[in-house]
Amino acid sequence: MPAGKLVCLGRNYAEHAKEMKAEVPSAPILFLKPSTALLAPGGKILLPSFSHELHHEVEMVVLIGTEGKQIPRDRAMAYVAGYAIGLDMTLRDVQAEAKKKGLPWSVAKGFDTSAPLSPFVEPRLVPDPHNLAISLKVNGVFRQQSNTRHMLFRVEDMISYISTVFTLEPGDMIFTGTPEGVGQVMPGDTLEAGLASVGTLTVTVGRAGE
Ligand code: MG
Repeated sequence: MPAGKLVCLGRNYAEHAKEMKAEVPSAPILFLKPSTALLAPGGKILLPSFSHELHHEVEMVVLIGTEGKQIPRDRAMAYVAGYAIGLDMTLRDVQAEAKKKGLPWSVAKGFDTSAPLSPFVEPRLVPDPHNLAISLKVNGVFRQQSNTRHMLFRVEDMISYISTVFTLEPGDMIFTGTPEGVGQVMPGDTLEAGLASVGTLTVTVGRAGE
């Protein structure tokens, strides 16, 4: 199935909203990344020359397998074709500038290689997507450690809500938001993301144009 659109949630963990000094949202905050942002396991995240502050955000990723619009919450889980572990890499300096000026986040969030992603695991192998240990290590040291049970919006809430805005199609992916502990990474660093029942994802950091 070819990659579709990447729909991402902002502030879906209360502790992350707190560390960003932002309010906990009453409805999901959505933004998009293009499919060209995807990066395969073992790949290199390329820090663009116009940024000096690349941040990691580890996130569970949900793959959509069936087309749907206005999907009712009680039928939403039937649209899930898989789960993966991914990273929502963010140019925090570019994002801060965009927030200040009221501009979109497309550059800060959607640059090439900003969406490293593991292979997807079938839903039958993930008994409870709302109770999975999620973590990120940088150069072998834990930076983020949480559990998907702390998500503010559950997978069925996200699918139902997103499908009122965008028609969901097979190959679309939902980046479900990051727990607390986000921080900077530098060229030369190695990132290892993990999600229970799904596995791990390892990528490195370099500079664009190298
Ligand atoms: Mg994120």
